Amino acid sequence: MSIDRRRVLVTGGAGFLGSHLCDRLLAEGNDVLCVDNYFTGTKANIEHLLGNPRFELLRHDVTFPLYVEVDQIYNMACPASPIHYQFDPVQTTKTSVHGAINMLGLAKRVKARILQASTSEVYGDPVMHPQREEYWGNVNPIGPRSCYDEGKRCAETLFFDYRRQHGLEIKVARIFNTYGPRMHPNDGRVVSNFIVQALRGEDITVYGDGRQTRSFCYVSDLIDGLVRLMNTPADFTGPVNLGNPGEFTILELAEKVIAMTGSQSKVIHNPLPHDDPKQRQPDIALARSRLDWSPTIALEEGLKDTITYFNKLLSK
Ligand code: NAD
Ligand code: UDP
Ligand code: UDP
Repeated sequence: MSIDRRRVLVTGGAGFLGSHLCDRLLAEGNDVLCVDNYFTGTKANIEHLLGNPRFELLRHDVTFPLYVEVDQIYNMACPASPIHYQFDPVQTTKTSVHGAINMLGLAKRVKARILQASTSEVYGDPVMHPQREEYWGNVNPIGPRSCYDEGKRCAETLFFDYRRQHGLEIKVARIFNTYGPRMHPNDGRVVSNFIVQALRGEDITVYGDGRQTRSFCYVSDLIDGLVRLMNTPADFTGPVNLGNPGEFTILELAEKVIAMTGSQSKVIHNPLPHDDPKQRQPDIALARSRLDWSPTIALEEGLKDTITYFNKLLSK
């Protein structure tokens, strides 16, 4: 093995974001160890990598210790959609908290740099708009979203304490809603739901009045931001927002998807889930200045590729 080739661990590497990250890291010439328990990820997402001698796959749950030798760790393991993370909420908190402790313990032992996939959910239902990294958030500690939100918040705490206490090189990315090919068709997130419903000619389920907003980042932009963050100087830890500042109402998204798929589907309104944030838009000034990063793919362009992906998947 050449000395400068990096060994990179991607936890949650068989998931939506993790699998795209594995692709990118391999394309850059790294050795990649993908660790996943297949809770929400699938082997299909990484099937195309299995013949690559620089790619290794390990079925493992990050709530248990892991002893491997690596140079960098991207800690992506955690169910991300409300349906999945609320299915077994105790396991969700364990994955965020015990998973972070184990990966930080590993990073400490092997002196690896470690990046945490945190989330805009740490801001909860934000009263500051758009959200900047300085904002401490408005999170319900005891609601149905809390296992995810508070788990991710505690993971951030652990990352900063391992830095203060043990001098670890940490990076924390706060990821805003990201979409693209390899999203799980049944994970209940809005982009995949609307596209799948439109392609099947089913009703488009808008929750509440649909005036709540989200900002949607295409997956390739997001992955580029993560890799840039990992490779910043050691004194830069984040947290840093990564997302696309373009903000849309959920109704606007529904209309776009219907128009782009040419679907006959009708919009129906279902009850708004508990604690559903009313608005969300990243302030990405920090990412622009420290990572020289900003998203390049507009919503319509990204939706086009995502619709093509789901069209193929559904016609299999
Ligand atoms: P995903 O569900 O597709 O991927 C998560 C992966 O983690 C899956 O492959 C799953 O099987 C694996 N996993 C779950 N629990 C595990 C455990 N205990 N041990 C090992 N593997 C485990 O979701 P995603 O959208 O790819 O999200 C990846 C990461 O990014 C998550 O940490 C998520 O919280 C974060 N994130 C994603 C978004 C988004 O919009 N996609 C937004 C904010 C944060
Ligand atoms: N750990 C791990 N892999 C390693 C080193 C540690 O999974 O290579 C786990 C270990 O099980 C421990 C956790 O990481 O529970 C935290 O490790 P740390 O060294 O910080 O704490 P300690 O072992 O002192 O509890
Ligand atoms: N949403 C919706 N219909 C759906 C799925 C989601 O109207 O079929 C809404 C949901 O209530 C929320 C927004 O779309 O306001 C984004 O939901 P998602 O689960 O994708 O992400 P998150 O709420 O975690 O941002």
